[in-house]
Amino acid sequence: MITMIPRTIFGEEHEIFRKSVGRFVETEIVPNHSKWEKEGKVSREAWLMAGKAGILCCAIPEEYGGMGGDFLHSAIVIEEMARVGASGPAFSLHSDIVAPYILKYGTEELRRRWLPPMATGEVLAAIAMTEPSGGSDLQAMRTTAKREGDEYVINGQKVFITNAQGADILIVACKTDPAAGGKGISLILVEKNREGLSLGRLLDKIGSKAMDTSEVFLENVRVPVTNLIGVENQGFIHLMTELAQERLVQCVRAVANAEAALQWTIDYTTERKAFGKTIAAMQATQFTLAELHAEIMVNRVFIDRCIQLHLEGKFEAIDAAVAKLSSVEMQGRVLDRCLQLFGGWGYMTEMPIARAFADARQSRLAGGAIEVMKHIIGRSIVKR
Ligand SMILES: Cc1cc2nc3c(=O)[nH]c(=O)nc-3n(C[C@H](O)[C@H](O)[C@H](O)COP(=O)(O)OP(=O)(O)OC[C@H]3O[C@@H](n4cnc5c(N)ncnc54)[C@H](O)[C@@H]3O)c2cc1C
Repeated sequence: MITMIPRTIFGEEHEIFRKSVGRFVETEIVPNHSKWEKEGKVSREAWLMAGKAGILCCAIPEEYGGMGGDFLHSAIVIEEMARVGASGPAFSLHSDIVAPYILKYGTEELRRRWLPPMATGEVLAAIAMTEPSGGSDLQAMRTTAKREGDEYVINGQKVFITNAQGADILIVACKTDPAAGGKGISLILVEKNREGLSLGRLLDKIGSKAMDTSEVFLENVRVPVTNLIGVENQGFIHLMTELAQERLVQCVRAVANAEAALQWTIDYTTERKAFGKTIAAMQATQFTLAELHAEIMVNRVFIDRCIQLHLEGKFEAIDAAVAKLSSVEMQGRVLDRCLQLFGGWGYMTEMPIARAFADARQSRLAGGAIEVMKHIIGRSIVKR
């Protein structure tokens, strides 16, 4: 194992939890992942097993079926999955991105109806913000929800929706007051079996092959107004608030994944020989490994600090943008340079490094592209 500055954010109970998550990942995820990659989706059974093992919705309070843990438990699940390159199961999207919207902004009825089965894996969830016309400029979304009596009538189209194939519920961002721009956006929980909701293609991606990503069409979909998540027309504010945690999820994954890639590369280059010695014995290789080790360590310490700030409720949108920019760019550099050290084998999808390289490319796009992070940071520092 690579030696890093000791981590101080986890307690003893977290370390016990990490061991049980690690065991689950080794026995239930690793042996099935390549099958799911071929099928383009993760089996429902895996979700139910994850629910049984207590790794879904671990930061959701016990009264709503969760484990009553904190974001550190979520981080452990994300890290243990990233450590083995398990990019398929969208557990963190379900547990740490969608569930918090229901918990924080949903009515008591919605919380009681949906969170317990989400924690057991009987109900899967997705979030639909991005549209074919664009995802960076969320305020320009075109999907509308028109109020008619006690119902919203939703019309529009979404794209790149993770987990849409398996999901039973989707939180759909739509305009309830189109003339008001960003101030007219609302979040509405839509059950997948509502008439008028249909899925388009299962999109063929260059990586994260086991994670399903789809188009979603909404044509006169009627849902009761009680399915509103949060305050009508304040959906954009809710999104911006929750995007900080969504981005932190990506940062945690990026660092753990980069650490794993470096370890695989050290192991490989210590065995592989050229010109009569191991690749790792060459100083050029050691310089590369040293640079990557340093980059990862700096990000590890920084992201741990961000996790701590998040636990204290002090992790702001600007911090999330900095953290994401730094960690996912680092992840991209590390995976590219590690792949190089595997030579031709690094390009073969049978090798974990090849799959991780392709999987990681999405980090710089999904959940807000890195240019959007720079835009947020730039605007903030110039204003100061
Ligand atoms: C694997 C994957 C899974 C995803 N899952 C989900 C999901 O579950 N739910 C969901 O709603 N969305 C999801 N997305 C969508 C994702 O959030 C969007 O792709 C992303 O927000 C960018 O939107 P876009 O693709 O429309 O690109 P565009 O908005 O068209 O942007 C194109 C390019 O222009 C750049 N750009 C845009 N604005 C600026 C600016 N102001 N300054 C400089 N450059 C700019 C962008 O950075 C990008 O490089 C997923 C995407 C991927 C790849």
